[in-house]
Amino acid sequence: MTQATRHRIVILGGGSGGLELASALASRGGIAVTLVDRVGSHLWKPRLHEFAAGTVNSTLSEISFYMLAKMRGFRFEQGSVETIDRAGRTVRLAAMPGPNGEDFADARNVPYDTCVVALGGLTADFGTKGVAENAIRLDAKVDADAFRERFVSLMIHARETGEPARIVIVGSGATGTELAAHLRLSERAFFDREGEVQDRLLDLTILEAAPEIMPGSDEDLRKGILKRLAALDVAVVTGAKITAVERDVVRSDSGHWPADITVWAAGSIGLPVLSKLADFELDNRGRLKVDACLRTTVDDRIFALGDAASLVLEGTERPLPPTAQVASQEAAYLADALPKAIDGSPIRPFRFKDKGKLVSLGNAGTVGLVGLGRRDDFFIDGQFAKAAYHALQRRHQWAVLGPLRGSVAILADVISPTKGPAL
Ligand SMILES: Cc1cc2nc3c(=O)[nH]c(=O)nc-3n(C[C@H](O)[C@H](O)[C@H](O)COP(=O)(O)OP(=O)(O)OC[C@H]3O[C@@H](n4cnc5c(N)ncnc54)[C@H](O)[C@@H]3O)c2cc1C
Repeated sequence: MTQATRHRIVILGGGSGGLELASALASRGGIAVTLVDRVGSHLWKPRLHEFAAGTVNSTLSEISFYMLAKMRGFRFEQGSVETIDRAGRTVRLAAMPGPNGEDFADARNVPYDTCVVALGGLTADFGTKGVAENAIRLDAKVDADAFRERFVSLMIHARETGEPARIVIVGSGATGTELAAHLRLSERAFFDREGEVQDRLLDLTILEAAPEIMPGSDEDLRKGILKRLAALDVAVVTGAKITAVERDVVRSDSGHWPADITVWAAGSIGLPVLSKLADFELDNRGRLKVDACLRTTVDDRIFALGDAASLVLEGTERPLPPTAQVASQEAAYLADALPKAIDGSPIRPFRFKDKGKLVSLGNAGTVGLVGLGRRDDFFIDGQFAKAAYHALQRRHQWAVLGPLRGSVAILADVISPTKGPAL
C-alpha cells in the first residue's frame, strides 16, 4: 500500500496515552500514523513532581519525538492544536512563535481519516482567587523547571540565613503527598554535613479541603501515608477550604499559612482548547464525552483518550479518573480496536482493569493497594510496593521504545548515578 492510499490516523498529544498509541499503531504497519505535540520531546508526566523536586534528572527521561518517530515509524508534527475541521477532516495547528515574536513555522492543516484526541488535562483551580498568579501547578515540564529554580534559590537562602523555606502544597492526592516527600529528600542536598542531625531548612505543609487526606481512598492507604508524612515531618491540615492564594500566604476561612512557594495540586479538568476544537460534547470538567468504544459522541471518526476524555463505564456513575494507568489501557485498547474499526469489523467496548493505587514517598517508602483482579485489594508497602510503583513506567518505556531499547532504558534508569538528590 502506498503512503497516499494508507488510512491516516492523526493522534493529538504525545503524552502517556498518545505516544503509546502512536508507537503501537505504527509498529503494526499498513496505517499512516501522525503524532502531533506542541513540544519536541516527551516527558512521562507521573514523574513531574520528581523533576520539580530535583530527585531525578529530567534530561535522562526526556525522549525526542523526532527520534522516536524515526525509530517507531510514525510521522511527527510539532505544533499547537487549535481546532478540528470535522467536515474537511483536518486539524489546524497554530503558527509556532519564535523568541522575538516572529513565526518559526506557519500555521498548518494536518489531514486525517481517523483522529484521536489525547491532549491531557490541567490542574483545576476551581475559581480560587490568586491561584493563577501566585501558585505553581505541575502540568508540564516548564512548570517543574520553574518550581525547581525557585526551590533551589530558597534553599540556598535558607542555608545562608538559617530561616527555613516554607512550601505549602494545596491538595493531598498522590501529586501533593509525593511532592512533599521528594522535597524532603532534596533538602538533604543542602545540608552541610550529610548524616548528622541538622536544623530543618524546609517547612512543608499540605492543606486539604476534605475532612481527611486522599478523599475517597482506602482507610489503610490513608493511614499508611499519614504515618509516613509524620515521619517526614510534613504538617497535614485537613478541612482547609482555601479562599485565596496571595504572593506569600495561603488563606482559608479558618486560618492562613505563610508560603514562599505555593503548589496547587487539587483536581483535574480538561484543557481550555478542548472546548474550542469543534462542537464536541463536554462533561462538567470540560473533557470530551466518549462512548464505550472511546468515540466522541458527535463524530465516529474522532476518538479521545486519557485525561482529555470523559468515559463513564456501564454500571458506574462517574468518569474514569485522570491517571496514566487509564490513559495507557485506553491506548492499548485503541491500538487493537482502531485497525478493526477501519476494516469495518465490529469492536468490543473498552474494559478497565484497576491495577491499584500506589504512592511513592521518597525515603519513607512506597505504599498502596494492588488489585489482583478480584474484589479484594491488597495493601502493600516496602520493596514490593516500590517495584510495583515503577512497573507502570517500565510498561510505558517498553510500549514506547519497544522491548530492546525499552530494556536498555530501564537498565540505564536503574543504574543512573543521578538518582537521589540530583540538584
Ligand atoms: C505530578 C503528577 C504525578 C502523577 N502521578 C501519577 C501516577 O503515579 N500514576 C498515574 O497513573 N497517573 C499519575 N498522574 C496522572 C498522569 O500523569 C496523567 O493522567 C496522564 O499523563 C494522562 O495521560 P494523557 O496521555 O491523557 O495526557 P498527558 O500525558 O498529559 O499528555 C498530553 C500531551 O498533549 C500535549 N499537548 C497539550 N496541549 C496541546 C496542544 N494544544 N497541542 C499539541 N499538543 C498538546 C502535551 O505536550 C502532552 O505531551 C500524575 C500526574 C502528575 C501531574
